[in-house]
Amino acid sequence: MATKSKRGFIKIAAELCKGCYLCETVCPFNLISVSDKLNQKGYHPAVYDEEGIGIEKHKCKGCALCALVCPDIAIEVYRE
Ligand code: SF4
Ligand code: SF4
Repeated sequence: MATKSKRGFIKIAAELCKGCYLCETVCPFNLISVSDKLNQKGYHPAVYDEEGIGIEKHKCKGCALCALVCPDIAIEVYRE
């Protein structure tokens, strides 16, 4: 029986982000980039590129690498 591949998504708390971009470096699918906007601390926060895209089209697998490397615990991971 075929198993459905897992899909996931993340939420990045822009106000907690200090702009180190470790998360961007580790994502195997390059799904994280840098916002043009500044947060209240004056950093350009990381943004998740699949925001607003239906989960059936997500490349994110919910592997949580991005959340594990974030020193500021700014990323939450969800899996379906
Ligand atoms: S690892 Fe955390 S603090 Fe660093 S850019 Fe990503 S979300 Fe921001
Ligand atoms: S959970 Fe994994 S696949 Fe999804 S954005 Fe983070 S590092 Fe990339």
